[in-house]
Amino acid sequence: MAEATVVKPRTERIQPGVWRLKLPCPWPGVPHGNAWAMQRGAGLVLFDTGVGGPKRLRMLDIALAQAGFGVEDVELVVCTHAHSDHCGLAASICEGTGCELWMHPRWEHIRLQVENPDGALEARLEVGRMSGVPLRALDRYRQERAAKPEELVDGIRAPDRELLPGVEVETDVGTWGVYETPGHAPSHVCLHQPERRLMISGDHLLGRSVLFFDYGHTPDPYGEFIASLEVIEPLEVDLCLPGHGKPFREPAAKIADARKQAADLLQRVRQGLADAGEATAFELVEGIVGRENLRPGSAGFVLQIVLACLDHLAVRGEAAPVPDSDPQRWRA
Ligand SMILES: [Zn+2]
Ligand SMILES: [Zn+2]
Repeated sequence: MAEATVVKPRTERIQPGVWRLKLPCPWPGVPHGNAWAMQRGAGLVLFDTGVGGPKRLRMLDIALAQAGFGVEDVELVVCTHAHSDHCGLAASICEGTGCELWMHPRWEHIRLQVENPDGALEARLEVGRMSGVPLRALDRYRQERAAKPEELVDGIRAPDRELLPGVEVETDVGTWGVYETPGHAPSHVCLHQPERRLMISGDHLLGRSVLFFDYGHTPDPYGEFIASLEVIEPLEVDLCLPGHGKPFREPAAKIADARKQAADLLQRVRQGLADAGEATAFELVEGIVGRENLRPGSAGFVLQIVLACLDHLAVRGEAAPVPDSDPQRWRA
């Protein structure tokens, strides 16, 4: 697989006291992610951190230096959700500076990955096997991972404060309120600053929607995601600060776009199942992506999305797992 081009960190002032830190991500197709640094007195509140791992703290320091600060100025770390590109450096920053980490209480989904990466890999391979992924492909994936383990999270740390509605985050641009927006991840929150009409939207709402549902932690992540779009819809927002890509102005259009994409996706899974009569999740992935376009990385990504759609169709009474099938088969 081709290495992702490593982008250098680049910092951009969005408005007085607000900086976008564009930090490199290690994944092909996702070259960078954003952290948002906001001034608070002489220090900073950092919303999201970028991935952890060797040299990443130095990378963050280089990004902060472009705003005239350093990692030692971070007084509080706030994470929109517990994915490695948003909380990977949280433990290192908090240890180094003594500052607190605020994150949603449902952050456990990252715990296994950090504390027992081999166990997490085996769990993922078992999901693949049960979904009908060919054993040869799973073996290849296991070998690749063994040769090149991912170090994307610097240890795990329970939040010092649970980010729940009612918690307020103080910065010089104003006080931010917390909105629970599970779906993309069970721990996802968005933060809203009503006077400046700003929203930190994490991966819930992006400028170019890329849907992803962290599968297997809750009964219906797809349904949660749709409900979470309703949570942010009434908020008055002039500028949205997303987890990836540039800030954008028209959140209503992006919400409509995310809804449409999600509905299209569900329809493709529904149709795939109707056409096949009965199928494994992986057969549906092949139908959606096309067998010739399947790549190990993207197949795993699409598989999680298809599994989330199947769970949602099951909740709606439109699909059901075939009893005693192994790999798991589904029928309309
Ligand atoms: Zn994420
Ligand atoms: Zn992300």
